[in-house]
Amino acid sequence: MHILIIDDDKNDRFMVTREMRREFSDVEIEEVGEPEEFEQALAAGRFDLTITDYQLRWTNGLEILRTLKQRFPERPVIMFTNTGTQEIAVEAMKSGLDDYILKSPKHLLRLSTTVRTVLERNETRRRASFFENRLQSLLDQLHVGVFRVIPDGRLLEVNNVFLRVLGLNSLDELQSIGGFSEIFSKARDITPQQRRERELKLRKPDGTSIWVSVNETLITNQGELVIDGLLEDITGRKRAEESLKRYATRLRTLQELDRSILRAISPAGIAQTALMFTYPLLRCQLLDVTLFDWETQQATVLAVQSHEGIGCSIGESFSLQDFGDIETLQQNQALIIENLAEHPRLYRIQQRLFDQGIRFIMNVPVIAQGQLIGSLNVGAIQPSSLTEEDMDNAYEVANQLAIAIQQSRLREELHRYTEQLEQLVSNRTQQLEEANSALEAFAYSISHDLQEPLRAIRGFATILLEEYDTALNSVGQDLLHRIASSVERMDNLLVDLLAYSRLSRVDLPLQPINLNLLMRQVLTQLESSLEEKQAQIIVAEPLLEVVGNYRTVEQIVTNLLTNSIKFVAAGVQPQVRIWSERRNRNVRLWVEDNGIGIQLQHRERIFGVFERLHSIEAYPGTGIGLAIVRKGIERMGGQVGMESEVGGGSRFWIELPEFVK
Ligand code: ADP
Repeated sequence: MHILIIDDDKNDRFMVTREMRREFSDVEIEEVGEPEEFEQALAAGRFDLTITDYQLRWTNGLEILRTLKQRFPERPVIMFTNTGTQEIAVEAMKSGLDDYILKSPKHLLRLSTTVRTVLERNETRRRASFFENRLQSLLDQLHVGVFRVIPDGRLLEVNNVFLRVLGLNSLDELQSIGGFSEIFSKARDITPQQRRERELKLRKPDGTSIWVSVNETLITNQGELVIDGLLEDITGRKRAEESLKRYATRLRTLQELDRSILRAISPAGIAQTALMFTYPLLRCQLLDVTLFDWETQQATVLAVQSHEGIGCSIGESFSLQDFGDIETLQQNQALIIENLAEHPRLYRIQQRLFDQGIRFIMNVPVIAQGQLIGSLNVGAIQPSSLTEEDMDNAYEVANQLAIAIQQSRLREELHRYTEQLEQLVSNRTQQLEEANSALEAFAYSISHDLQEPLRAIRGFATILLEEYDTALNSVGQDLLHRIASSVERMDNLLVDLLAYSRLSRVDLPLQPINLNLLMRQVLTQLESSLEEKQAQIIVAEPLLEVVGNYRTVEQIVTNLLTNSIKFVAAGVQPQVRIWSERRNRNVRLWVEDNGIGIQLQHRERIFGVFERLHSIEAYPGTGIGLAIVRKGIERMGGQVGMESEVGGGSRFWIELPEFVK
C-alpha cells in the first residue's frame, strides 16, 4: 500500500508516518510538504490513499481534496487537521472527502483505524461499481430492454437496449416526449411478486410501429415499491405470426376455390367465393372479377366485394374500351396505378372509381389456356395501398380463378354436350326399337302365316302317300318323300324362328331356379333321343342355384344338350358332363361333350342366326339353336361362351347370377 501524506509541518508528517508504519507492515509513504512535491506526486499518481492537513502554507485541504478527486475520484482522502471547522468538514465531505479526523495525539491513534475503514469502504465501493458496470454491460449485451420504475411515478433507470428498442437516444428524450407511458404499469394493475406480461403495439418517434412484450414484477427495494421490467422487441415474431395467419387464410381461399370447382359451382359462384375469402386478406376497399367477351367486345362484372357499394355492381356490362388497357393484360401483365390522382384517367371506369374515392388500382389478368378471359380488379382509397405480399396474393387468386372458371365453363359445355348426345342416342334408340319391333313383327307374322300353307302341303303329301301310293311309281314316291322331308325341315325352321323372335318380344320375368330340377326335367324330355343315341349324361349334382327365366333357361339347356349329343363323329357314343361353378357372384354352368369340336375361328359365328358349320345331310339342324341361347342369356343379363378343340369335344358355358338364399 502506498500512502500520500500532505502536511507542511515536518513533525506532523513524521508522526503520521510513524503511526502508519507501526500499523501497516508493507506500507510505502510519500511525504509532501511543498507544492512541487504535490505536483510530482500527482503526476506519478502512485498512491492509494491520501492523508492531508487542512491548513497549509501554500493552499488548503479543500483545494488539495478537489484536485485529487478530480484526477483520481476513486482514491480515498482523509483530512487530519486541527484547524478545520465543522463547516469546512461538511464542505469537504460534499466534495468527496472520505473521513475527517482532528489532529491530536489522542486522535492520532484513531487515524490508522480510519485509514483501514476508509480503505475497506473504498474496496467495497470499487467492487460494487465493478459489478454494476459488469451488470450494465451484460444488460446492454442482451437484446432485452431493462427498466426500473416507481409505480405511477418516476422512471429510475433503463439500459441502452430499452432506448434502442424504442428508437430513443437518451432517457431525457424519453422523458421529454413523455410518451410510452403505456409500457409502465400503474400501481393498481400490478401486485407484489406477481409477474405481469403484456404485448403492446407502439409507435416510435420516427412514425414506424413496433410490437413489444413487457414483463414486469413489483418488488420492494429499500422500503420503496419499484417495478422491475423487461422490454423485448417482438415485431419480427408478430410479423411472422401475421404473415403465417395470412398464409393460412390464403391456403384456405385456394382450398375453398378447389372445393367450389369440385362442387361444380357456376363461374359466378366460384368468383364470389374467391372474393369473399380474398377481400379480408388485401388492404383494399374494392375487389371484383370482370369477364371479357371478345365477340361482343363487352366486359361484364361477375362478382364484387366492396366497401359501401364502391365499384360496379354484379352483372353490369360496359364496353372493353371503357375498361382499361386490355392489351397489357393480354400480355399477361398486371396494371398497377399507385395513385389515380396523379395519373391520367384515360378510361371511363377509372374516372368512375376515382370519383368514388379510389386512388390505388390494380388489374390482374385472368388467363385460361393462354387466353385472357377477364381480370381481377383491386381498388383502394389509400394510394400505394398494396404490399408486395398482397399483390402476390392477388396473382395467386387470379390464377386459381382462371382454372376454376375454365373448369366450370368446360363442365357446363360438357353438360350441354352430354344432354345433346343423350337426346340423340335416345332418338336413335327409339328409331331402332321401332324398326326392330317392326322387323320382329314381320318375321313373326311371316313364320306364323307360312305355317298354314306348310301344314296344307304336309297334309296333302301324306294323303297322296297313303291313298295314292299305288298310282305312283318309285320315282314319284321318292319325290313325294323328299317333299315331305323338306316340309318337315321348313316347319322346324319356322318353329325355331318363331321361338327366336318371341324371345326378343316377350318379358322374361326372373326367378330363382333350381338347376338340378330343371336338368332332370330336360333330360326326361330328351329321353327318347338320348336313348336312341345311347348317350351317357353325367350331371355333377348338386348344381348351384341361379336367377333367371325358367322357360328360357330350360330352352337354352335343351339346345346345348341337343347339340352335344348331335355333333359327334359316327360310331362314337356321346358322353356329356354337366357341372356348375361359382364365378364372383355368378354361376357358370358347363356342358362338355366328346364331339367333333369346333375350330376356334368359328367361336363367335356359331351364335349367329342360320350359322352352321356342317351340311344338313351330315348333321341336321336349323342354325338357330345357339342364336336362341345367346339371345336368351343376354336378355337375362348373363353371358355365354365356349371352349373347344377339333376332335377333342366342345365345352359350352352359360353364366347367370347366383341365387343367394
Ligand atoms: P344347329 O344345331 O341347328 O345346326 P346351332 O345354332 O345349334 O344350330 O349350332 C350352330 C352350329 O354350331 C352347328 O351347326 C354346328 O356346326 C356348331 N355346333 C353347335 N354345337 C356344337 C357342338 N356341341 N359340337 C360341335 N359343333 C357344334
